[in-house]
Amino acid sequence: MGSALCSASGAQAAAGTSAGTQPVPPQLVVPTDPNAYCVLNFYHLTPVAEPKATVEEHRKFIEDMGLDLRGRIYISSQGMNCQYGGTVEQATAYAEWVKQQPGFQDLRYTVWPSEGHAFPKLRLKFKPNLISLAGGMEVMPITEPAARATPLEPCKWKEMIAQAQEKNIVVLDVRNDYEWDAGHFVGADRPAEEVFAETPVGEAEQEVPVPLREVDKDTPVMMYCTGGIRCDVYSTFLRKKGYNNLYTLEGGVQNYLRQEGGAHWKGSLFVFDARMAIPAGNAGALATPGAADAEAGGLPAAVPCSLCGSPDSQLPHVNCANIDCNELFISCPACKTRYNGCCCEECMGAPRLLRPAKVDGGHYGSWGNYADRDEAGPIISTGRTREGRVARRARRREALKEKRVAFVEEKLARKQLLRKVKTQLEALESQAKEQDEKEAPMAAV
Ligand SMILES: [Zn+2]
Ligand SMILES: [Zn+2]
Repeated sequence: MGSALCSASGAQAAAGTSAGTQPVPPQLVVPTDPNAYCVLNFYHLTPVAEPKATVEEHRKFIEDMGLDLRGRIYISSQGMNCQYGGTVEQATAYAEWVKQQPGFQDLRYTVWPSEGHAFPKLRLKFKPNLISLAGGMEVMPITEPAARATPLEPCKWKEMIAQAQEKNIVVLDVRNDYEWDAGHFVGADRPAEEVFAETPVGEAEQEVPVPLREVDKDTPVMMYCTGGIRCDVYSTFLRKKGYNNLYTLEGGVQNYLRQEGGAHWKGSLFVFDARMAIPAGNAGALATPGAADAEAGGLPAAVPCSLCGSPDSQLPHVNCANIDCNELFISCPACKTRYNGCCCEECMGAPRLLRPAKVDGGHYGSWGNYADRDEAGPIISTGRTREGRVARRARRREALKEKRVAFVEEKLARKQLLRKVKTQLEALESQAKEQDEKEAPMAAV
């Protein structure tokens, strides 16, 4: 599909090699000042024989080298998943050391500029599952590349997504709903789960996402997430379900936006650190929220203001000031002030408005509350149990999920109807053509 070669990417241009056929690893685009702060991301799936002992080796290296790294470094029997920050020099020193460990030679990491530390502390630990998933990921053969999807370089992805509608390709966003709200590929679908961790992948209940139910198993499916690991997990699940034409976006959306800019992308990219979101930017640019964005009043979101419907919706998300609600929602600047940091009028009059209104947006507590719900403690002491909050959130999720399933099914029905009408039209056209051909010679006589 598409041409065999993509043109020189933005990353190559930025790295000073304007031409060449070798794919350039994304880590070449780094802030040049070694003392500047950055966020460094990578994951690598490979069997780790003694993950707990490995954690201690890594801890020793970081301590011995005196590295001030902060963020998440998770190690399991299936590999590593990391998002951490520090100075460019220290952050890359650790990543380069990891690359020297057996099985990690092919590791690719990305470096993003950040203003100071983007994470509050270092969480280096053994995790049975590198990412949160309802059924657990130990049962998934994710360390076997053959079980995963075909990775596409960003330029190939761009070519293919341009033809998605015409060729009936399913584009699947496997991230969480609030990430989708911040930005997504135009024309993409979502699984019915509001949060990726709820994806049913267990043996008992293997549910195929709604957008895939009506298509045959040879239909091309292009799936994407922020950095790629969720797709690697999700694609092994879909392969088990019999889908055999699967593609993932190599390096995830963050890699795509860096190399191809915002082509086919709407909004910004949600990230799980203090930056909250990064702009789509231009190809090859070191996109970072800066003074210009602050002046403009924030990064654009992909969905309208959830309060008034205005298209002038902006990131970051607002975390409802009513602690009993705690909703993370998208708002326009006017509504942030009008509703005083609440998600609705009802919340404005809630009895437990214990938190200061965050009219500038952003979370209360740590992002970890959303990324790792199993570990996060209470945001604020309220006298109410975490169980109660979790139960309320689960109920709200369930209701939202039902709504979304109904919405997607409706959309699917519309698509089917369109296809049917198209087929009928084509049949009518060819009939008319046949008729014309029959009549034409007669007219000539
Ligand atoms: Zn609004
Ligand atoms: Zn609320």
